[in-house]
Amino acid sequence: MLLDDPDSSALITDVDGTLCRIVGRPERAVVPARARTSLGTLAERLEVVACVSGRPVEVVSRMVDVPSLTYIGNHGLELIEPGGSAPVVELDAEDAALTSAFIREHDSPFWVSAGIRVEDKGPIQALHWRGADERTEATVHEIADLAAASGLDIHWGRKVMEIRPPGMEGKAGAVESLLEGRGIRTVAFAGDDRTDLEAAIRLKEMKESGEIDRLVLVAVSSTEGPPELVEIADVVVDDPDRWLEMLQGLAG
Ligand SMILES: [Mg+2]
Repeated sequence: MLLDDPDSSALITDVDGTLCRIVGRPERAVVPARARTSLGTLAERLEVVACVSGRPVEVVSRMVDVPSLTYIGNHGLELIEPGGSAPVVELDAEDAALTSAFIREHDSPFWVSAGIRVEDKGPIQALHWRGADERTEATVHEIADLAAASGLDIHWGRKVMEIRPPGMEGKAGAVESLLEGRGIRTVAFAGDDRTDLEAAIRLKEMKESGEIDRLVLVAVSSTEGPPELVEIADVVVDDPDRWLEMLQGLAG
C-alpha cells in the first residue's frame, strides 16, 4: 500500500519499544542492523521516512544511524532533516530552562536511593524507575504533583515520568507538522507507548478530515503500553522484531 504511490507516502516509527527492545538502562538499547538496512532502502523510495522519539534528537539519530531519515526528538521539540546534522530546536530558551530549574530545586539524595534516575534531556527531564518497587512509583507520583503545581506538564510512559515545559504538543504535533505541505496521502505509523497513542489519534483525525487518505497504525503491544493504542491499531504485534519483519517486507 505504501509502495503504490511512494511519492505521497510517509512511514513514521517510534524507536524504543518499537524498533528495538526496551532494556533496563536506556543507554544500552540497540537498534538492530536489519532495521537500518530496511529504513535506508525505504528512505530512497518514500517521500518521508521518519523516526519520532522521546529521546534527544542527536541521541536517536546516532542510535538509528541512517542519514537519509528525518529524526524528531524530545517528542517534537527537536528535528534533524535528512542528511542534516545540526538539530533545529522548536522552543524558546526561557521555556526550555523551566524543567531543569525544577529538578535543581527539588532533587534530593533520596531519589537516587529509591532507584530513581533523572535523565537530563534539556527542555525535558525524565525520571526513570525501571527495576524499583511500588514505593518508588509513589514517590514519582509525588514529584509529578509538585511539578504540575509549578505549571509544568507531566507525561507518563513505560516506567518513566517526563516533566515537560507547558503547552507542548508532543508527538501528535510532531507528526502533523512533519506531514504538512508535503502532499502525503498515505501514512504508516508504528509505536508502543502513550505518546505514540497521541500521535496515532491525531493521524486518525487527519484521515477523518480528509487530510490523508490511507492510514496504517501498527501497535507493538506490551503489558506496560496503553491498551487504547492496541484497540485503535490496524496491526498489532507483540515484539519489535515483528515490526522489523514488516519493514523488511516493505523494503523488499
Ligand atoms: Mg516507544
